Amino acid sequence: MIRIIGGGLAGSEAAWQAASRDVPVTLYEMRPSRATAVHKTDRLAELVCSNSFRGDKLDNAVGLLKEEMRRLGSLVMRAAQESRVPAGAALAVDREQFADRVTAAIAAHPLIRVVREEITAIPESTEPNPVIVATGPLTSPALSDDLARLVGHEHLYFYDAISPIVLADTIDRTKVFRQSRWNRSLGPSASGPACGVDDGEGDYLNCPLSREEYERFYDALVHAESATVHDFDREKFFEGCLPIEVMAHRGVDTLRFGPMKPVGLTDPRTGREPYAAVQLRQDNLAGDHFNLVGFQTQIKWGDQARVLRLIPGLEQAEFVRFGMVHRNTYVNGPDVLAETWQVRARPSLFFAGQMSGVEGYVESAASGLLAGLNAAALASGRPTSAAPRTTAIGALAYYASHANPAHYEPSNITFGILPPLSSTPRGRTERKLALSERALADLGGWMREWVAFGASRPPALAEGRR
Ligand SMILES: Cc1cc2nc3c(=O)[nH]c(=O)nc-3n(C[C@H](O)[C@H](O)[C@H](O)COP(=O)(O)OP(=O)(O)OC[C@H]3O[C@@H](n4cnc5c(N)ncnc54)[C@H](O)[C@@H]3O)c2cc1C
Repeated sequence: MIRIIGGGLAGSEAAWQAASRDVPVTLYEMRPSRATAVHKTDRLAELVCSNSFRGDKLDNAVGLLKEEMRRLGSLVMRAAQESRVPAGAALAVDREQFADRVTAAIAAHPLIRVVREEITAIPESTEPNPVIVATGPLTSPALSDDLARLVGHEHLYFYDAISPIVLADTIDRTKVFRQSRWNRSLGPSASGPACGVDDGEGDYLNCPLSREEYERFYDALVHAESATVHDFDREKFFEGCLPIEVMAHRGVDTLRFGPMKPVGLTDPRTGREPYAAVQLRQDNLAGDHFNLVGFQTQIKWGDQARVLRLIPGLEQAEFVRFGMVHRNTYVNGPDVLAETWQVRARPSLFFAGQMSGVEGYVESAASGLLAGLNAAALASGRPTSAAPRTTAIGALAYYASHANPAHYEPSNITFGILPPLSSTPRGRTERKLALSERALADLGGWMREWVAFGASRPPALAEGRR
């Protein structure tokens, strides 16, 4: 029997996967007896914010991840398909219908028992009786305390200050220059500040701003629409990792003494220190992505793109991920987890979903899917298995368990975290499609070798392939 704590996207998917392999599941969900700061209903798999599962084409990494999940019989994907609303190339859903369908499917499954109860301490787990913790970014405080005891306080985070990430080849290299502040290039820091404010180390691309450019950017920034700051978010990030727009509201020059400080930089085109500068740092694992250092922000995504494209060099930037600041309980995956989503120090315990160190609805459900399959394997006395790294679902698990723990940040799925192709097609779209083709072929092999075990309920898989 498997116990799963948290009936969100990850927990519901994990329960479905395990039960589809004839392993009984007890799923604990604390709502409605105990609320979170953002959930509004008692439904399982409630979408807390946007109703979009993002892109749905194979030239898009999240599209690939979704296709893999469909092939693996995902309940979340099936419910999404059934409650789909028109959204162009994206998969968006009627959120109520979506949560209703997941809730109904789980409730109707003869091997899943749903218990509406808050779990305040991680239950005992053994190989025949594994436990999956999937309590999400808003894990209740009592359980968070117990988690911190289990993994170590230094490996559990409570807030996320995420800087936007842009695609490297959409940066205008004629306007930016590569230089480390004070020409120091000391390599990656093992103890960089959590919110990514530049500490002068490493190599950077710098976007220099003249006074006029800075003032134009500043004006757009302070007039941009910023997401509501929830009560629960307040104290902590206001101390350590202020959103750029909050800093900007404190005074016109605050940013020039913070993340846009120009000191120690010399613009080769003028031979002088620029009036202000934005530093872009290469992402650790994905060499084709750069993040805007110290640019955590709550600005709504549409406005964010508009404002950030005012920065010289970023006029045509494509954003791989937008900046965010929000409450987020998550573990430092690379220190704590294996690629199977097992806790390394206690393999009968799994973490899944946002709290396992991934970002996004689809990614959370995907980690739940893999954790559910592996917990079912363990409970059935079979070996666990990591999905191939060349698949999106495997690359995500690999990233969460192998990225640099010193700078660990939860990530959306991107093609940048998949291993490169042996021969790269010329065009960007062709390259992405080739990565998807390889992923789906390798997924097929892994499914035949390992996933097919115990799939004594093929309807779950077959229905998922619609
Ligand atoms: C404010 C906010 C907005 C977000 N917006 C988006 C967005 O627009 N798009 C996107 O892709 N991602 C978004 N995310 C990120 C993330 O993808 C979602 O939070 C997603 O729901 C995570 O799935 P999950 O299964 O890990 O957690 P959840 O879906 O939150 O599920 C966790 C479940 O565990 C329950 N629970 C918590 N503690 C306990 C306990 N002790 N005992 C029993 N049950 C418990 C909760 O009630 C909840 O139902 C957002 C996150 C936040 C915080």
